[in-house]
Amino acid sequence: MTAPVRRCRSCGGAVAPRAGNRAFPFCSDRCRLADLGRWLDGSYRIAAERGGDGADGDPGGDPRGEGEDS
Ligand SMILES: [Zn+2]
Repeated sequence: MTAPVRRCRSCGGAVAPRAGNRAFPFCSDRCRLADLGRWLDGSYRIAAERGGDGADGDPGGDPRGEGEDS
């Protein structure tokens, strides 16, 4: 049994074990920052779209949602 080799999501190269690898789970700081930048760019846009349209998903925002489904 061998531990699966982690692959860097940014460049696909082998990733060193967490211990001693401050860029984990990436192979290097460079890849970590590159991937993080892409990820944040996309998630910030999605979060801005979803968070800007009111109380969608707020459990206390719908007075009719008490279970009276007759
Ligand atoms: Zn890499």
